[in-house]
Amino acid sequence: MEITLPNVTNQEEEAAEEKSIPEAISQSVNLPLLPEDKILVSVEVCLNPSSTARIEDVQTSIERMLEKRSLSYADGPVPVPIDDQFLVENVQRIRICDTDEWVENHEILLFWQVKPAVHVFQLSEEGPGEELSGDGQLSSFNEWILPAKEFDGMWESLIYESGLKQRLLRYAASALLFTDKGVDPFLVSWNRIVLLHGPPGTGKTSLCKALAQKLAIRFSSRYPQCQLVEVNAHSLFSKWFSESGKLVAKLFQKIQEMVEEDNSLVFVLIDEVESLAAARNAALSGSEPSDSIRVVNALLTQMDKLKSSPNVIILTTSNITAAIDIAFVDRADIKAYVGPPTLQARYEILRSCIQELIRTKILTDQQEPLILPSFASLREKVNAPSIHESLGPLELAKQLLEASEICEGLSGRALRKLPFLTHASLTNPNNCEPSKFLQTLIETARR
Ligand code: ADP
Repeated sequence: MEITLPNVTNQEEEAAEEKSIPEAISQSVNLPLLPEDKILVSVEVCLNPSSTARIEDVQTSIERMLEKRSLSYADGPVPVPIDDQFLVENVQRIRICDTDEWVENHEILLFWQVKPAVHVFQLSEEGPGEELSGDGQLSSFNEWILPAKEFDGMWESLIYESGLKQRLLRYAASALLFTDKGVDPFLVSWNRIVLLHGPPGTGKTSLCKALAQKLAIRFSSRYPQCQLVEVNAHSLFSKWFSESGKLVAKLFQKIQEMVEEDNSLVFVLIDEVESLAAARNAALSGSEPSDSIRVVNALLTQMDKLKSSPNVIILTTSNITAAIDIAFVDRADIKAYVGPPTLQARYEILRSCIQELIRTKILTDQQEPLILPSFASLREKVNAPSIHESLGPLELAKQLLEASEICEGLSGRALRKLPFLTHASLTNPNNCEPSKFLQTLIETARR
């Protein structure tokens, strides 16, 4: 984007001379002034799986690289500089995060307004450790070392009304900070329980996992060891309740051991937390075996105990919006409603799907590379198409918008499946061009 300096009179000229160029530009585009208003932007640096470089060394190199980089900041990847042998050998990718709020409000974020916070991490490739429940089929618990390869990119793939993800991240970060600084909970009260509720398929479970992954990355210098334990509430109510009881005890013993380590951070995720309350009520009314109440109660007691530990974050999801009768979530500080995607979110979800099909060459097009405009820039482009811009992507974007309008009421999960269903319904799936594909997608969505 081009920035023009404001026209000034002679007197103003003198005053303007005193200003630094950054200040002058900053004022002309109505941006906050520095240095007080510097915006903290996270720069995430993922190391190669084989890298043995020291985190501090990579951090210093990246900071140096960013100092030299006099560009604007926007969410997205930054190429690893090819002239820096050390970074080329050790770094898989660099990504700028958290600028979207600013970019939306102010359209552009320039390097002198930014204070980068560099987070260097290496993904764990270990995969989930599983604990089987008594019948040997359903696993009751999964655990991952964070940041895990499985959750890489999940945060970015989840699209919500503006600010939801950032709000969650900030809440959780504040809770961790308060704990770390030893704020007295009797004087300032807060807890580390997150409850995401809303209709099924809106990405709540994924958001919990992605949040844990993000926090593991952002807090890696304070907590070098992070783990996520996912409790499958449903599988606890298999027919082997007594076995489940033992498993709960075993699991919490393990968690307790982890929690005792001052430098480890543990996330416990309980999906569909309402099923615990339902199982307890059913057991009380006699419609479920009484063993089940023992398991549920054991779990609730353990969770209650755990919530006072400073380095545990409890993440829960629920498909019902009504109050949930469970002691450890009814006072959750971080409660967020996660609703069905808005038009903008639907457009962005479908756009990312189409872009992925183009990348993998399932959709083919003469134009290379074909990049569809974002929702935010679409309106501008429709009203005043630039002469330099080819109409192809714009026409496709209009089709995509139509599809997004038709998909009202679909969940994020359904939207992410739609391109697959569309492809499966094509009579000639080879050699499929995007425009034809979108037409079929609209028909599939209508059906
Ligand atoms: P829930 O726990 O609410 O039932 P899930 O986390 O199981 O939902 O979501 C299933 C999948 O649906 C996610 O992995 C994701 O691919 C997709 N999805 C749901 N909501 C969204 C969204 N808002 N943005 C992008 N993808 C979404």
